[in-house]
Order: sequence, then C-alpha cells, then structure tokens
Amino acid sequence: MFDPTTGLPNRALVIDRLNNLIKVAQRKANKVAVLFIDLDDFKMINDTMGHESGDELIVDVAGRLKEIIRSSDTLGRFGGDEFVVLMGDIEDAEPVERLVQDIRSVLSVRCKVKNRSVSVSASIGIAVFPEDGDSASLLFRNSDLAMYQSKAVGRGSATFYTPMLNAVSERRLRVEEQLHQAMECDEFEVAYQAQVEIRSGRTIGYEALLRWRNGELGEVSPSDFIPIAERSHLIVTIGGFVLDRALAQLSAWRRNHGQHLKMAVNVSPRQFCDESLLTTIRASLERHGLPSESLEVEITEGLLLSTKSHVFEKMSALRELGVTIAMDDFGTGYSSLSYLSHYPFNVIKIDQEFIRNIEVDSCNRHLVKSIILMAHGLGHKVIAEGVETKEQLALLTEFGCDFAQGYLFGKPMPAERIPALSPGLRMPP
Ligand code: C2E
Ligand code: MG
Ligand code: MG
Repeated sequence: MFDPTTGLPNRALVIDRLNNLIKVAQRKANKVAVLFIDLDDFKMINDTMGHESGDELIVDVAGRLKEIIRSSDTLGRFGGDEFVVLMGDIEDAEPVERLVQDIRSVLSVRCKVKNRSVSVSASIGIAVFPEDGDSASLLFRNSDLAMYQSKAVGRGSATFYTPMLNAVSERRLRVEEQLHQAMECDEFEVAYQAQVEIRSGRTIGYEALLRWRNGELGEVSPSDFIPIAERSHLIVTIGGFVLDRALAQLSAWRRNHGQHLKMAVNVSPRQFCDESLLTTIRASLERHGLPSESLEVEITEGLLLSTKSHVFEKMSALRELGVTIAMDDFGTGYSSLSYLSHYPFNVIKIDQEFIRNIEVDSCNRHLVKSIILMAHGLGHKVIAEGVETKEQLALLTEFGCDFAQGYLFGKPMPAERIPALSPGLRMPP
C-alpha cells in the first residue's frame, strides 16, 4: 500500500482514500480536490544523471510536499515523477490555490542531487468533486488532463480542469497516435530557410525545419507535434532523420554552389540529452563528407535550466568536434543573461517576437540593440529571426546585427523550390 522509495501511499491506497473522501463529501455536501503533480523535465534528469539521482530527487520533493499539506490531506505517489494530493472537506478553491502557491514556493529552492544543484518545478492539474467528476477514476483522469494542459502552458503552471480540455486532449492523442507511424509512412519532409549575412547580402546557410503532412490530420505544425514527440523517445528518431536529411542536402548544395554553406538543425532538449547525440552527429557528417564546421546546432533556453553541468559538458564536446551552437528563440524563455557568458554558444538568435514590432515599439528596439551589443561583447554572433520588412532590416543593419532570417529573404521551402539553388542558377558571389 506504500511506495517503497518515498514511503508515501501508493496508487491503490490513494484511490481507496479518494473513494472514502467522496462518500463523506456526498454526505456533507462539500467538495474534494484532486491535485495531480508532475515534475517538469524529470525524464531528462533521470536519463542524464541516472536513476539513483532521480530517486534522490523524488525523495527530496516528497519530503518538501509532506511539510506543506494539511494534516487531513493525503499525499501519494503514483510512480515515476507523479504525485497526487487529495484535499477533502473543502468548500471552495481557496485552500487549493493556497496549496498551489506553497508547492511553488517549496520547489523554488534548488535541490542538491549528487552534489549538483538542480532546479525543479512541477506542472499541476486540478479536478474537483462533484463538478469535474463523480468517481475516483474520472477525477484522476480529469486532473491528469489539466496537468497536461499545464505542461503545454509552460513549466510550473497549474490548471483547473474544464470540459474544453477534453477536446484538446483528444487532439493530442490523435497527433500522438499518428506520429508513431509517420516515420514509417514517410510523411516527414524537411523545409529550408535561408540565413543571410546582413553586411554582404550573401546567403550563408539554411535552417532545416521539419514539415509533417498526415492523411488524417492534414498539415500539422511543428510547434504542435514537436512537444508531443519530445515527451516520448520518438523525438530522437525524428531528430536523427532531420539531421541526416538536412546534411545530405547540404552536401549536394556545397558540391554545386559553394563550400561556405552551413546547415542549422534544431535539437530538442530530450534529443540533446540522449546519449546517442554525438555519435549520430559524427556519423551523419562523415556519411555526407562534411566538415563539422558546416553544422550548427540550435538549442533553446529551456535546456539550460535543469541539468546544468551535463549540458555544459555536452556543449563543450560539440564545440570540440567543431560544430557550432546557436541559442534559439533568445529572449522568450527563462534565460538569465549569465547563461550567455557561461555556456559556449557561438550564435544568439533573437526571437521573432522582438523583431516583429521593432519599427514601432521603441522598447523592443532598445532591447534588440542591447542584446546585439551584449552578444558581441561576449564574442557571439547574432541572427535576427522573423525579419519580414525592409524597415526591420534597416534597423538591424544600423545596430550591427550579423545575420538575418525571415520571410523577407524567403519562407522555409522544400529544397527543390529554393530559387537561388535551383538548377542552372548560381549563388550570388
Ligand atoms: P524555430 O527554430 O525558432 O524556427 C523558426 C520558426 O519561425 C519557423 O516556424 C519558421 O517557419 C518561422 N519563421 C521564419 N521566418 C519567419 C517570418 O519572417 N515571420 C514569421 N511569422 N515566422 C517566420 P516552424 O517551421 O513552424 O517551426 C516552429 C518551431 O518548431 C521551430 O522554431 C522549432 O523550435 C521547432 N522545430 C521545427 N523543426 C524542428 C526539428 O526538426 N526539430 C526540433 N527539435 N524542432 C523543430
Ligand atoms: Mg530554430
Ligand atoms: Mg527560433
């Protein structure tokens, strides 16, 4: 009845207690809240630091949660990084909201795991008896759905169940189902978007962007399906496919159009942490006869949060190999400026959100100008993402930005449709 790692009630005991709480609540005509708590990026910690470290972290978190629940509440572990809190005998959402605040606050202190400092946060989903379900199974299901919504919103969020979440989750399940077959059914394509050197106007390379067309779902945006693939091992297979396809393409382009061209490939956190990453990259470069300098790996700020030293080592290994590293979507995440100097980046990609209104929004203009100055000061190059107008380009030129990427120069396109590289045309000098 108890989980051996934490000593907390296990799933069976929690279900039992919830059934009792429901009976009491029916009699007293009050409410029961179920909080489904799932740690963010726990898989990554487990995969990179080992299961023992994972367990150490779980025990630490269990201890912290135990301290803040009311004596009448039940804290249980459902396995993995999933915890559940049952709050019986409540009248409104107030004690639930208070507990959510408390959970955030106890988790905000970094954990020490194997002498490393790890930041933790949790995504929380909440379902309430009787309005969100009249049985234990329905309440668990709906709090789980709400938890997934929190994951989608971002680390550390809490969401109360609403019926609309059913539709969202149905879509997610369908995407996940189809995604499993997409590789075999050859449904993926890679599109390429030019990256241009602002000073010379010359195309220096391309970013590879995955495209998925599915018979049942139609065109699915990567922002939709990458996070879903990221939750399973699928991302490693899919990411490997993109890398190899993009490098094959680059190899052909370099043969015909110029040895200077580079390829930028997005690597998601799970894929980055997978132990096969370096081997896969090395093998793919070799297969296509490319120097490692021709590959740029784009990673996002989210990766830098939890397992610092491991990520640092991996980045250093990539750099040693000769591969360059770009920080994608800079400015949108949780980036602390110290990341810029601490991690061995070559390139900072300013997120399109900052570029979009740069002509009219003086605040964004100042931000972009300062980011460029700061990045240069640290020896990094800067790419502006989402450049759509000549006015934006003029400002970026004035600020000394190195490279630009966006619809102004070309949308992401299949290789055969890229004008500058289509047969018979030469690259501009
Ligand atoms: P990202 O890496 O930041 O890619 C830039 C996104 O901005 C792309 O969206 C691109 O089509 C879009 N974009 C480029 N120029 C403009 C512009 O001028 N205006 C506007 N409005 N948008 C522009 P896309 O292709 O939908 O990809 C979305 C995100 O999905 C990417 O953001 C990346 O994080 C992820 N993604 C795409 N392909 C892969 C992949 O192969 N692996 C991984 N792990 N993630 C990928
Ligand atoms: Mg990118
Ligand atoms: Mg980006």
